[in-house]
Amino acid sequence: MPLVICRIHGRAGGELLSRTLFEFVKDRATWGNAPLVRPLTLAFEDIEFPGYMLDDDIVEVVQLGGVLEGSETYRFTDEEAMESAIGIFTATCYRCLRELIASQSKP
Ligand SMILES: [Zn+2]
Repeated sequence: MPLVICRIHGRAGGELLSRTLFEFVKDRATWGNAPLVRPLTLAFEDIEFPGYMLDDDIVEVVQLGGVLEGSETYRFTDEEAMESAIGIFTATCYRCLRELIASQSKP
C-alpha cells in the first residue's frame, strides 16, 4: 500500500483509484453527485492490481482489452494494454475514499 499525505487525515495508507474518481474524492462538495464507486481488480498473468473506478473508467478498461472474470476482475492478455490500464490509476488516502463509499451506501 503506498503512503499518501492527506490534508484531512495526515499520513495515511493509499488506495488505488482512477484519476476521475480521485477528482471526486478530493472535493467533498461533489460527493452528493459522485457516480457510484466500483471496486475492481486489474489482472495480468499472476499480477493483480485491486482498486476503485467509476463506470466510465471501466468502459475504458474494457476498450483496452480487459475481459471480465468473476464479478470484479478484468483480465488482460496483452502486457502493454495492462500497463495502459494501470495508467488509469493514481493513489489517494484510503480513509477519504472509504468515507466517500460510505456516503454512497446510505439510503
Ligand atoms: Zn484522507
